[in-house]
Amino acid sequence: MRRFLLCLICLILLQQVHAQRTIIYCGQLVDVKNLQIQKEMSIIISGNSITEVQKGYTKAEANDKIIDLKSKTVMPGLMDMHVHVEEETSPSRYIDGFTKNKTDRAYVAMGLAEKNLMAGFTTVRDLGGSGVNISLRNAINKGLVKGPRIYTAGKSLATTGGHADPTNNYREDLMGDPGPDEGVVNGVADCAKAVRMRYKTGADLIKITATGGVLSMAKDGSGAQFTEEEIRTIVNTAKDYGFKVAAHAHGAEGMKRAVLAGVSSIEHGTYMTDEVMELMKQKGTYLVPTIIAGKSSADSAKIPGYYPEIVRAKALVVGNYIQATFARAYKAGVKIAFGTDAGVYAHGKNWMEFVYMTEAGMPILECIKSATVNAADLLGVTDILGSIEKGKYADIIAVDGDPTKDTMVMGKVSFVMKNGVVYKSEK
Ligand SMILES: [Zn+2]
Repeated sequence: MRRFLLCLICLILLQQVHAQRTIIYCGQLVDVKNLQIQKEMSIIISGNSITEVQKGYTKAEANDKIIDLKSKTVMPGLMDMHVHVEEETSPSRYIDGFTKNKTDRAYVAMGLAEKNLMAGFTTVRDLGGSGVNISLRNAINKGLVKGPRIYTAGKSLATTGGHADPTNNYREDLMGDPGPDEGVVNGVADCAKAVRMRYKTGADLIKITATGGVLSMAKDGSGAQFTEEEIRTIVNTAKDYGFKVAAHAHGAEGMKRAVLAGVSSIEHGTYMTDEVMELMKQKGTYLVPTIIAGKSSADSAKIPGYYPEIVRAKALVVGNYIQATFARAYKAGVKIAFGTDAGVYAHGKNWMEFVYMTEAGMPILECIKSATVNAADLLGVTDILGSIEKGKYADIIAVDGDPTKDTMVMGKVSFVMKNGVVYKSEK
């Protein structure tokens, strides 16, 4: 018996020694924590995790698999903190609510999710849809569908007539008067119930629309739409379930209420004042800029008939502010987490945000940090994601060229690994 056990232990040990490892040779490796580029490095992966990062090109052992990225710049998988994985901009957006079933949305969402992954975004935070986003996350986690890791808010929360009220300006007899389940809340009781319903349906976080917004069929694009007490109820209830709260906000008053109530991030931040920036620094609130969404919706608004008139008027104005606000906030020292509002523009072009951020004065390595280290911090997952370090998940991408010399190479993603599995490669 003892001999048998000994043999068994030996066998297990032997298997561990010879377990297949993957070694990635990196010509250049972005050190997102120290904002440096390291030359000639090796990343060693076992299963879905990084087990070692070594200088030079580590010699392979018998069973090792080599991935040669010596001619590329390697970095952690990118993380977009603001996408709508169920949606893609289109002039039919407003009629789709009447013509598309949830199953239709689901098939569309599958393709959109894959576009994000192939563009190098191995993690996305979905900030609102019909609830299909939760099923999609589950299907991706099970390996049934190709896509990024999704952290989703499920359905956004708004007040009646607010930015994320899905029934704005539609026929009353068709749409009725939605409540917390649909994401429409009024008063503290509704606010607590809506958060609990998100928990029940399997969301990962909470999204609120603290002010008006551009694409909703409502006149005002920036006024406050929640009381501070309502937001506090949402934030406090969210804490009970381990949820963080993301707040869409264009106008300063709604933004201020959200920051004071303790949300984790302000989305867009269009008309952010110096006072709000100061408060965000004190509270450690992130700004998720979404510059590309502003620019893209302003462009679409110039196409006749693309948006309903009530939306067009707002898109032409709001879209032009976001980049300048981002420049001010960055300079003031507000924490920045990368986010684009993919869905408001075409999924897969998320990388253009890097170009707009650098135009506004943020060096590219800091931009990449905002899309890795900072994004992981905002999600609360720094122990597993956000950098290429021992013990973290093997979410690794590579671009052709050197982003510190040309920001456009962020659009040339030629290698994508998520969870130790290669989804894109040249061979
Ligand atoms: Zn959004």
